[in-house]
Amino acid sequence: MFGPIFRNARRAKRLTGVQLAKMAGCTQSAISQFEGGKRTALSRDTIEKICEILEIEMPAELADETPQGAAPASGATTSMAPSPLTRREPFCPNAGCLSNVPYVVDGALAFMPRRQPDAGATYCPWCGEVLLRECPQCEAPATRTAFCPSCGAKRIEPPEGVADPVAWAEARRAEIAAVERLI
Ligand SMILES: [Zn+2]
Ligand SMILES: [Zn+2]
Repeated sequence: MFGPIFRNARRAKRLTGVQLAKMAGCTQSAISQFEGGKRTALSRDTIEKICEILEIEMPAELADETPQGAAPASGATTSMAPSPLTRREPFCPNAGCLSNVPYVVDGALAFMPRRQPDAGATYCPWCGEVLLRECPQCEAPATRTAFCPSCGAKRIEPPEGVADPVAWAEARRAEIAAVERLI
């Protein structure tokens, strides 16, 4: 399903539907229909533009709709994919993901992202979330640290409503260790 791919990528970029609509030159309601699975809500050109903005590849199920034979000239979106991004350390922004190891600093949860096995990947191999390559706060290239060295922001936002961060972090680390033993 392409809808969730676009919705997740948009959220990973911290864009609202209104902001994305403005950047892509369409309406917010068209974006929300498209993210809901209605592929005809947006023109082919607009979908390509959105892929560029969100830095994702055209999902195969949409790419199939390309008129046969009319291909490469307009294929700019696919060829501009990974190169400058792969130098950064991508991280998964999902606090619930097993690629992020929690610990407690000053009584609050922080997460140390583990190295992603494929630096060029779009999605986290553990949880499927869209990987980030920049600090969501200051846009500095991501590093594999719990805090952004440029602005100090937490790499990964902790989940809400954790009553006992120490116990929560311990339980999660045990879970991560258990999964690693299975691999
Ligand atoms: Zn993940
Ligand atoms: Zn930052």
